[in-house]
Amino acid sequence: MKKLEIKDLHIEVNGTEIIKGVSLTFQSGKVHALMGPNGSGKSTLANALMGHPKYKITKGHIILDGKDITHEKPNIRANLGLFLSFQYPAEITGVTINNFLRTAVNNKREKKYSIVEFHNLLKEKMKELNIDISFIKRYINEGFSGGEKKKMEILQLSMLEPKYALLDETDSGMDVDAIRIVAEGINKVKQNKDMGIILITHYQRILDYLQPDEVSILFKGKIVATGGQELAKRIEKEGFEGVTK
Ligand code: ADP
Ligand code: MG
Repeated sequence: MKKLEIKDLHIEVNGTEIIKGVSLTFQSGKVHALMGPNGSGKSTLANALMGHPKYKITKGHIILDGKDITHEKPNIRANLGLFLSFQYPAEITGVTINNFLRTAVNNKREKKYSIVEFHNLLKEKMKELNIDISFIKRYINEGFSGGEKKKMEILQLSMLEPKYALLDETDSGMDVDAIRIVAEGINKVKQNKDMGIILITHYQRILDYLQPDEVSILFKGKIVATGGQELAKRIEKEGFEGVTK
């Protein structure tokens, strides 16, 4: 069975244990919402899954479709089909979305797309996702609103077609518009892909737009609840207090 498994993972940042024994299974073709209040360790877990050197795995395993990737470098993980949404801390002037994505996609392919081929493919995808075609010539992140950054994220997702996508919805720039864009984008990408999507958020509102197949709650570095729609509904009604007490 195709899945991304985390087994008894412990993660340290600057000598402090932040993730304290987390076990989770993310299925291919499903949407798993990883939720929890601010500071519970969601971003720490995402960064460690991607292999960020600052996030030290001191115990446990990460298994991708049966292969142990606990100690693999980030580029190997990416080649194996793992994707973490880029948050682009800085604007990259001079690099257009078109060039950036063509390089990223061609890197993964034997048969490279020509400039014209890729341009046409990208235009088609942007249309499908309701992204304004003028974006094709924009520099990465330059003057992007929160919602526009999210659109870029979904575009990357549909072009790169990873096996498992970790979407870390950080607190900044996540207004109602951005949340709706992410949810609609995920629903579209899901229609024709066997992708496993791990949506990381503290925002209950996303559940109004997206029905996750599974929901897990992280609190103080541990999973305190796991379930399906009924858990999502409970959080919507009671907030996290109900499950973290
Ligand atoms: P969440 O994404 O759920 O809001 P984080 O993973 O960002 O939570 O943070 C969890 C805890 O780890 C917090 O107490 C935070 O201060 C700490 N932490 C995260 N990253 C670092 C870092 N690079 N250096 C020091 N502490 C960190
Ligand atoms: Mg976070």
